[in-house]
This record gives sequence, structure tokens and C-alpha cells, in this order.
Amino acid sequence: MTVRTRMAPSPTGEYHIGHIRTVLYNWAFAKKHEGKFIIRIEDTDRVRYIEGAMDKILDIIIDYGFTWDEGPRVGGAYGPYMQSERLEIYKKYALELVAKKAAYYCFCTVERLEKMRDEQRAKGITATKYDKHCLMLTPEAVEKKLQENIPYVIRLNVIPDKTISFHDEVFGDVQVSSNDIDDQVLLKSDGFPTYHLGVVVDDHLMEITHVMRGNDWIPSTPKHVILYNAFGWELPVYIHLPNLKEKGETKKLSKRFGPVAAREFLDEGYLPEATVNFLMLLGWNPGTDKEIYTTEEFVRDFDVKKIHKTDLVSFDRQKLTWMNGYYIQHVQIKQLMKKLEVFYKDDKEVLTILQSQNGEALVLLAQTRMKTLKEFRELVVSIPIAFTDSDTLIVKDIKQTFEKLSAWKSEDILEALRGILKKHGIKMNTVYRLLTGRDVGLPLPEYLESIPKEEILKRLT
Ligand code: GLU
Repeated sequence: MTVRTRMAPSPTGEYHIGHIRTVLYNWAFAKKHEGKFIIRIEDTDRVRYIEGAMDKILDIIIDYGFTWDEGPRVGGAYGPYMQSERLEIYKKYALELVAKKAAYYCFCTVERLEKMRDEQRAKGITATKYDKHCLMLTPEAVEKKLQENIPYVIRLNVIPDKTISFHDEVFGDVQVSSNDIDDQVLLKSDGFPTYHLGVVVDDHLMEITHVMRGNDWIPSTPKHVILYNAFGWELPVYIHLPNLKEKGETKKLSKRFGPVAAREFLDEGYLPEATVNFLMLLGWNPGTDKEIYTTEEFVRDFDVKKIHKTDLVSFDRQKLTWMNGYYIQHVQIKQLMKKLEVFYKDDKEVLTILQSQNGEALVLLAQTRMKTLKEFRELVVSIPIAFTDSDTLIVKDIKQTFEKLSAWKSEDILEALRGILKKHGIKMNTVYRLLTGRDVGLPLPEYLESIPKEEILKRLT
């Protein structure tokens, strides 16, 4: 058996950082077992569909360093990989279920359905369910309505008083009563399948062996199990992953605490490899203290048995920042230069610094002090400030002292600055502010040394 995992994005919005964690686990599991990782686009919800969302999702998956063996842009033997291009397939399978009496036509109007649900709510039922009204139609009555082109949906025929069970590799055996399951719409009146029909048909036809997704999908799984059983198909292995929550909070990630969208983390200057390493440990733990993992090591060590059996895992932003700093410190200088050049491609000021003679020296200085690429700017770009008269005197003095220096070395610069401090009775932070416009940043003598002396003298003028 070839392991086949999949990620099935719906182009209804931006990809969240948690989606990247799920991509990572699916991708690594397939790699570990020399299997295939597939991307399928579940674009059947035409109301929530957002133009351009699919490309954004695919791009961000690539930007985090992942590729897929089959799916949009690359094709494959099980395509098409866009559900909107598979409508005939779903129709065929929906009709197969109708023929098996596992599904039925429903011609109820929106008004009737609303009235029905209102009546149920009035009786105190919160989880309202379809009342199987159309299940009572005779085959002749159904045929007549179809002839008359009355709009219809196809619904799952859930048999009451049954126990629906499945095994989940993380959460164990799950059982629910069929009495708690609604006669779910499978095929909508616009001819599109609902998620439930699409996901089951495609996971089966695409020979997906392991379904790994967020545990918010557990409540949907019994419906899928009913469908697999009705078709007489084998269930995939289910692996439901804990979702992410803000550390110290009880709910999911929130913009109030920082980025949430996968793209935003990159925009904030987090390195994809650091973020991916951080994500590895969100729901999985090797059982050791090892935290820094390459993707190769993760593929080797990833074990479904070590996925945390919990609803939510803490997303510790501080830890991510620490890990990002770690990666920045350990990347080779040339590579860091390249990353910064890409990150600051639209920022002329920083780009000029990077590409100047002293660019590399500055990056070396900044490397141990920045935790994100975004912090580089604060470390190297001086802010113009307004000088008072006494500031001007001090600056003039600094300039004259610098001019007299025979060597432009940090020790000599420090020595010179010390003289200035003494003479004017000021502290180093005053000089720091005068020369950079900032209160903190790179160590001043080294920072000055990394910039050619003439350049500094020009600035002081
Ligand atoms: N299209 C679903 C989503 O947007 C996929 C859920 C699943 O993996 O079954 O997350």
C-alpha cells in the first residue's frame, strides 16, 4: 500500500498558520512512508468562494517550503484536483446512493425548511434536523417533480437508532448515535456537492489512505462514515490533530496577540524554516528535549502515536520569536544577506545599506541582536533628529575628534567617544541618540567602524 495523504483547502479565505502545521504533518507523513502528498481544492461552496484565494494558498504553501506530488499546477493521475471540475462524478455517486436508498431527493422549499426548523426550536430543540418529509414521496411523485424541473437537493438518509463508530489514531474510538445526525444535504440545487459528499468521494477515488486534519472535523466524520458504509468503501485512517490556541487563553489564535495568517508571519520577518520548526512541536513531541529540527529529522522522527490527544495546543509566540532568533543566528552570513535583500526588496533605504561596502559587516553585527528580519531596520537605519545648540556643539566636537583618528577601528572610536563623554559630562546614551537617532541598537563603536569613516563624517556635517 502506498501512503497517500492530502490537504484539501477551500478557497474561502487566507491560509492560517494552523493550516501550515497540518500541511507539514501530512507532507512529513507521506515523505516518511515514501508515499504521496496531494493537494485538492475544495471549491464547492460558491457562496464563500473568493476569487484568487486558491493561488494565494498554493503560493504560501510553497513559501513555507512544501511541494506536492499531485494537485493543481502539477496534475497527476487522479485529477482533476479541483472539485468544481468534478461535478459529474459527484452526481453519479449521489444517484448511486439514491438507487441504494441511502440518499433521497428533497424538493422542500427554503420557506418550508425554515418553518420546520422554527417549529423545532420552539419545542426547545437546538440541533434541528430535517424531518424526512420528502423520504415519503413515491418514486412516481419524485419522477413527476423531476419532470417538472422543480429544484431539488439530494439528502443522506440517516437510519435512526444506529451507532456510528470509527477509530481515530489520536482520539481513539469514537461513537455517536445516528439519532444525532441530520439528513445532510449531499448534492445542492446548484449541482455542486456539499463538503461531505465531495470529501468522501474524492478521498476514496484519489486513494487517500490517511486523513489528517484539525479535530474540528471530528463532528463531521460520522456523516462520512455513513457514506463510506453506504458505498461499501473502506474507511481511511483518521488522524485528527489538536487545533491551536493562544498561549494563556482558552480560545483560538487572535489578531490581538499578533499575526494569525501564514503570510503575516513571513511579513513580520519570521523565517519559514524557523516557523516550520516551531509548528512541528505544536501537537507532536518527540519525547525528548530536542527542539531544533530540520525537516529531514522531523520526517525521520514524526510518529502519529506521539501526537497530543488534546483539543487545543498552545501557540507560544515568545517561543516562536526565540526560535526565529536562533535560526537567524545560525544561518550563514551570505544566506542571511540574501534573506534580508528579499525581505527588504521594496525598502530602498535598507537595501542601500545592505548593498553598500559595509553591508555584510553590519549584518554580522546585527545577526546576534535581531529576532526577526523586521528588526534589522531598527538596528541599522538612523532616524534624523532635531539638534539643540548644545547637541550641535557636541556633534561638531565628535566630528573633529573622528577626523583626527588615524585608524578607523572600534577601539579607537570608543577611546575617542570616551574623551567626548568626559569633556561634556554626558553619558554614552546621549551620544548614541545623537549619532543614530535611537536609544538602543547595535554597539556604537562597532556600528561606526562598519561604516566608512568618510561616510560618518559626511553624516556629522
Ligand atoms: N475543505 C476542508 C477545509 O477547508 C477540508 C477538511 C478536511 O481536511 O477534510 O478545511
